[in-house]
Amino acid sequence: MIQVNDNFLLLPESYLFSEVARRVKEFQEENPDVKVIRMGIGDVTRPLCKAAIEAMHKAVDDEAATETFHGYGPEQGYSFLRDKIADFDYNKRGIDISADEIFIGDGAKSDLGNFFDILAQNSIVAVTDPVYPVYVDTNVMGGRGGKRHGEHHEGIIYLPINKGNRYMPQLPGKRPDVIYLCSPNNPTGTAMTRNELKEWVDYARREGCLILFDSAYEAYIHSDDVPHSIYEIDGAKEVAVEFRSFSKTAGFTGVRCGYTVVPFTLKGHDSKGEEVSLNRLWNRRQCTKFNGASYISQRAAEAVYREEGRKQIEKSIEYYMENARMMRDSLSNAGYEVIGGVDSPYIWLKTPDGMSSWEFFDHLLKLHGIVGTPGSGFGKEGEGYLRLTAFNTHEATREALSRITNA
Ligand code: PLP
Repeated sequence: MIQVNDNFLLLPESYLFSEVARRVKEFQEENPDVKVIRMGIGDVTRPLCKAAIEAMHKAVDDEAATETFHGYGPEQGYSFLRDKIADFDYNKRGIDISADEIFIGDGAKSDLGNFFDILAQNSIVAVTDPVYPVYVDTNVMGGRGGKRHGEHHEGIIYLPINKGNRYMPQLPGKRPDVIYLCSPNNPTGTAMTRNELKEWVDYARREGCLILFDSAYEAYIHSDDVPHSIYEIDGAKEVAVEFRSFSKTAGFTGVRCGYTVVPFTLKGHDSKGEEVSLNRLWNRRQCTKFNGASYISQRAAEAVYREEGRKQIEKSIEYYMENARMMRDSLSNAGYEVIGGVDSPYIWLKTPDGMSSWEFFDHLLKLHGIVGTPGSGFGKEGEGYLRLTAFNTHEATREALSRITNA
């Protein structure tokens, strides 16, 4: 008899995006003349920058000659990339992180999902509600979720994000072992200020918690008081792991490259109470279960730190953020309650007239041919909201806004 991991059976069917796709398909079949504008998915649309493309072509050529061929690389990533990250993303910003504290991976999702390999299996985790679903589902798979009651798993601490707390999670009443924070946030589009993040770092230090800090959207930060890295906060190197990605920064959603920072000063404890370095354990885990991100992806990632590459990726980010600005301005002028979109490519839109998330989804689709993502798909507190993304073209974004606001 083949026995399965029962924990997987505690997961709800992944319903959100398939249901969105089903409703869009049905609408499109009934209304073939309507040009549907998709503002739902969190994927970039602009092509990779020239610097990354050139670097990849060159890397492919490297693989074609014996002298420059690269087989297995270091599991932690090539130093040509780790050094650039340490220099540009940390040292030049006044943060003391060394290349050996940086682990290159194939994107933030895998590392976020895998990090629990090195933590106690019975840890109590806290997540926000609404939430990027990967944090919850991977913990349920790992047996930390417990039974599901409605939308929540009994073993997980949920920290509501709603109008009442200005869309910022508040410190938990009960102490978790591990806290997932995402800033700039998917799906709400809000970002934590230095003071807000400091509260969490201070709390984690006081209570002996670990913060798993997801800053996949760091490149979209525009506000001066929003930190780009959790390590800008004093003491964070003793309590936080940072996850970053080239996906939204440089359009690598298809190329795959990201990195995880595990500072040397970050210590856990074994069951006998002895101190253990998390960097050492993560290194061990990666060397055993991972054979490194591809040489070609890492060369492409390296290229976005060169002057040309930096300028080119900034241009794409500005392009998306111009969409976010248009969306914010036009929707708030039309009387909508608009959250986010200042330091992130996401707009969290309050549904009008007390509509549910799915009712408003249907309303936008059927009346205007526009696709968003129902907020309720990200958690209970997301009910009554819809997520729109800024990843479309200017033309489609303008068209979508005029359809909504001229109705
Ligand atoms: N973290 C958040 C909050 C995301 O929204 C995403 C992707 O949408 C990821 C991580 C995963 O990104 P990657 O493409 O690096 O796996």
